[in-house]
Parts: sequence; structure tokens; C-alpha cells
Amino acid sequence: MKTLRAVLQDGQAKGDAVGHFNVSDLILLKAVLSAARELDVPVMVGLSEGERAFVGTREIAAVVKSVREEFDFPIFLNADHTHSLAKGIEAAKAGFDSIVFDLSALPFEENVRQTKQAVEALKSINPSMLVEGEIGDIGTGSEIHDSSPDLTKGLSSPEEARQFVESTGVDILAPAVGNMHGMLRSMVKGETKKRLDIERIAKIKQASGVFLTLHGGSGTDDDDLRKAIAAGINIVHINTELRVAWRRGLEQGLAKMPDEVVPYKIFPPAVEAVKQVVLSRLRLFNGKRRAA
Ligand SMILES: [Zn+2]
Repeated sequence: MKTLRAVLQDGQAKGDAVGHFNVSDLILLKAVLSAARELDVPVMVGLSEGERAFVGTREIAAVVKSVREEFDFPIFLNADHTHSLAKGIEAAKAGFDSIVFDLSALPFEENVRQTKQAVEALKSINPSMLVEGEIGDIGTGSEIHDSSPDLTKGLSSPEEARQFVESTGVDILAPAVGNMHGMLRSMVKGETKKRLDIERIAKIKQASGVFLTLHGGSGTDDDDLRKAIAAGINIVHINTELRVAWRRGLEQGLAKMPDEVVPYKIFPPAVEAVKQVVLSRLRLFNGKRRAA
């Protein structure tokens, strides 16, 4: 089985990105796995601190490990948005493949200082764990928002990216390049799209020289996503789009069977709705890999 680092390098050489999808129950996990296996492309599943608190850090690690072994399939587990070293250590000990250590809300110098410490501490537990650091401001919460924050204020600069990577030793960097967590109502309706600063991505890639993650990928213009991957994005996070599909699918399942109480008879429309979103995103992120 290839390591996550090898899978990312492979994607980078081909000009593809790895899709990262947040899961917090078996409906989402089944949908992501089924879509990735159908297309035969590697995939990452991630859980934020809140999602891990619900599912269980050790529990999800055991499930993903068992799936990986059973199907001999490259599915990787990421500890998404982790705000403390204690929570990071918990994930490292449970066997997560990577972690998003997110202190982007702190002043830059403090973010650098604590992220450097975290890189050292986490790698001493698991040397092959990839550590991602965050700079800039892309808002919080993979939810539906009524209004957009002013993203222009928190954009990352190439110089900041270079300095951050050099001082912390992170393997992966998540910059702010026009992306945003969550979706606006108009995006859920498909009336508007997020747009990305492609030139900034290319400059940050050149300055930092590490793998780059695009957070808040839901509701982004497809063409911008393709260009962002070509400019150096290696991982794209999708969460809100899955959550919207999950809710709609679940409502459908419940409405179709108003008297049903058997969960596994109610859930299939939810699995299918989420799977369709994952399929569509994986096709887009893996255009080169799939054409080869
Ligand atoms: Zn994120």
C-alpha cells in the first residue's frame, strides 16, 4: 500500500489532486468509499475535532484501517482542523495518516511557534504522519452562511507562506486564496460560485515548495478548481456539499417511507445523494489520472 505522501507525489506529477471528504457517520463513509472505489482513485476522509468527538477518534481509525485492508484500497484518514496539541497527539496515537494543525486564528508569530512544536511532537509519535499548517483567514464552519466574510483581508502572501513553511517544517500548507469554509445560500441554490486567486496559488506554490491544500472547496467554480490544481493544489476539501446532499437524501428516505423504522431501509437515498457529489468531485480532481 502506498503512503499518503507517495499518493500526493504521484498526483502532483500527473497534475491531479486528492479529494478530501469529511465524514461523521457510516452513511458518509460508505458513500465516499463507494465513489472512490468505483472510479478507482485514492481518497482522503477527514474529521474535525467536532466530528471526531461524535464518531470517536480511535473508532474511526479502526474502521478506516479495516476498510483499507479489506479492499486493499488507498483510503487515508486526516485529523481535520485540530486546534490543540493534545487533540493532535490523540489522533497521532490512533494512527491517523495526516493532521491539519490549525492555529490560523492566532497572530502569525504565535502560529509559527506552536505549529513548529506540534510538528516535532507529532512526528516523534509517528514519523510518517503528514502535518499541515494553516495561514490566513478563510472563515469557520462548513455550514450554510447568510453572508460572506471579507475574504480579501485574510489572503495569504507568498512571502508569508515561504517563511511559515521554512520555520515550522510542515509537509502541507493550507493558504487563503479566495476559498472559504461553508457555502452561501446562493451557492447551495447554484446561483453563485466561489472564485479562486489562481495567480496567488502559483506564487505560493513556488515560494513554499510543499503540498498545498484547498479548504472550503464546496461551491467553487469547476474551472477555477481545475486551474487551482494545475497551479499547485494537491488536496481539495469538500464538506458542506456533502452535508447538503446528506440532509436532502435523508429527508427523501424519510418522506418515501413515513412508517418505516428500519434505519438501513431509510438511509440508501442519503448514501446515493452523497455518493453522486463525491463522484462528481473525484472526476474533476482526477482528470489526468483517469485519462491515463
Ligand atoms: Zn477546512
